[in-house]
Amino acid sequence: MSEAGYDVERIRQDFPALSMLVRGKPLVFLDSAASAQKPRQVIDAVTKMYEAEYANVHRGLHYLSELATARYEGAREKVQTFINARHSHEIIYTRGTTDALNLVAQSYARAFLEEGDEIIITTMEHHSNIVPWQMIRDEKGLVLKAADVDEEGVFHLSSLEALITDRTKIIAIPHVSNVLGTVLPVKEIAALAHKAGAVLVVDGAQGVTHMPVDMQDLDCDFYAFSGHKLYGPTGIGILYGKEELLEKMPPVQGGGDMINTVTLEKSTWADLPHKFEAGTPPIVQAVGLGAAVDYVNAIGMAAIGAHEGDVLTYATQRLASVEGLRLIGTAPGKASVLSFVMECAHPHDISTIIDQAGVAVRAGHHCAQPLMERYDVPAMARASLGLYNTRQDIDALVDSLEKVREIFS
Ligand code: PMP
Repeated sequence: MSEAGYDVERIRQDFPALSMLVRGKPLVFLDSAASAQKPRQVIDAVTKMYEAEYANVHRGLHYLSELATARYEGAREKVQTFINARHSHEIIYTRGTTDALNLVAQSYARAFLEEGDEIIITTMEHHSNIVPWQMIRDEKGLVLKAADVDEEGVFHLSSLEALITDRTKIIAIPHVSNVLGTVLPVKEIAALAHKAGAVLVVDGAQGVTHMPVDMQDLDCDFYAFSGHKLYGPTGIGILYGKEELLEKMPPVQGGGDMINTVTLEKSTWADLPHKFEAGTPPIVQAVGLGAAVDYVNAIGMAAIGAHEGDVLTYATQRLASVEGLRLIGTAPGKASVLSFVMECAHPHDISTIIDQAGVAVRAGHHCAQPLMERYDVPAMARASLGLYNTRQDIDALVDSLEKVREIFS
């Protein structure tokens, strides 16, 4: 147990995958930024739902439908409390971060931006916070600009401020960069955006997983994240949006559940949040996400952040001792990702070789090609931490990287 009482060995026992052998070696899972492993509590909640609590929601006046609806809507309330949104109807279920960001682009930007209006992003976006804006830019004749980070991966507010004009209508940023680990000052950026008359959209895929987040405190207008990175199921994500914005936004998809009345001539929309949730939703996935929220709440997001911070500091020191390894993204206060390149080997070779030792990292452009260009590298290797990682995992990583050096030198 760590000094702070964080019992990581106990926690690891909740995750069946972590006791696997991979290629005859204990799995060292350092790819949680891509998707996290699932605790028994989430797996059990999903199984229980399919076995004994399953029916379609909002549709039947029968026992199972009422139960499923209560579970499904109960999970929404758990998410509301988790991110401290003012209302549960500000929590829209989506398929994930990508789906949530596309919803904002296709609804808000399409309805309220006009030719010549400007959207500002950063050079460190995941493609899911670039491409939806490019699509709507091309459709509506908008202008898309990107604020840069410095060589160390530090984000300076001035780089964003310099791009703001009286045509700026949307600022879209990551809470935490999935490549650099840089944590952006969301609250300050929200204030800047509002002063300029713009809305702030936050890609929180890597934020909500590493620290407590509070929508009312951050005061962003939209916040998107994925269940599967938060130890929950795939196929479920969240778009938080402020009530007054969601109220005036048009739906993007039409169909069942999102309507109030339908005639052959015209339809009227359901109230929030259902206006944005056409069709049979990801019922079981939402309930699984609720179980994941319960799980991380029981440990505490602040405790998770502190534990990961300890492992991150250790990893940063240990990786610095590997000859020829360059860590990319060293901003103070960064969160749990360690991207690197090695002089001797391509990132794909690194990940393939260390996989033989059971060490799982990711290699490639991490869906952030503009950032690869920014750092003038074709790809990076990335070790990313979850609430279950330990200093021993980092030792295994460093040992396996030393093998890479031996092989290539
Ligand atoms: N944004 C960031 C910062 C991410 O790390 C990811 C996932 N790699 C996404 C968006 C996209 O998430 P999803 O694939 O779950 O939609």
